Amino acid sequence: MKYPRALDDLLESFRKYPGVGKKTAERYALHTVTKFSEEEIDEIIGSFQRIKTEIFDCPICGNITDQNPCYICKDDSRDKSKIIVVEESKDIIVMEKMNSYHGLYHVLKGAISPSNGVGPEDINLSSLMERLKDDKIKEVILATNLSNEGETTALYIRRILEGSGIFVTRIAHGIPAGANIEYADEVTLSKALEGRREF
Ligand SMILES: [Zn+2]
Repeated sequence: MKYPRALDDLLESFRKYPGVGKKTAERYALHTVTKFSEEEIDEIIGSFQRIKTEIFDCPICGNITDQNPCYICKDDSRDKSKIIVVEESKDIIVMEKMNSYHGLYHVLKGAISPSNGVGPEDINLSSLMERLKDDKIKEVILATNLSNEGETTALYIRRILEGSGIFVTRIAHGIPAGANIEYADEVTLSKALEGRREF
């Protein structure tokens, strides 16, 4: 069956989401067109528009936020001697669920991947180096994914911090090789953090 053009476009939009294939996208698009009221559609459009205008990257840590700086960076009760370095904002959400870490974070917004043409200058690394000039920071905990890219990125950061006097550690214990931080459960992650080793 040939869909009207607008429905086809909507379907293609849904396909942009991770894990959404053609069938699911088709279901979402048809549901939107046939089941949602005009008000519901306006609500969805409104949410998308608000994302564009209200959400931005924290200028300090790179986490997504609607306040400047983000709630973690501006929280004076947090331990400012430690920074966990992650690839994506969603990794912070997982880490915060552990409820056992009260330091700071830094979001790289990606990982170094020479095969995909992503170099150190393409990720949010220079602002991390800027932050590390603050001598309050004693430890950098590398929590990039345990994929090739994540490992490459961790090794790169370790190398540039050599001789800086900052203690560099890597979480690893219990997280399988190749795994993404976002899929680790809180207990595994807590253990991995507790058991972090000098890197
Ligand atoms: Zn922040």
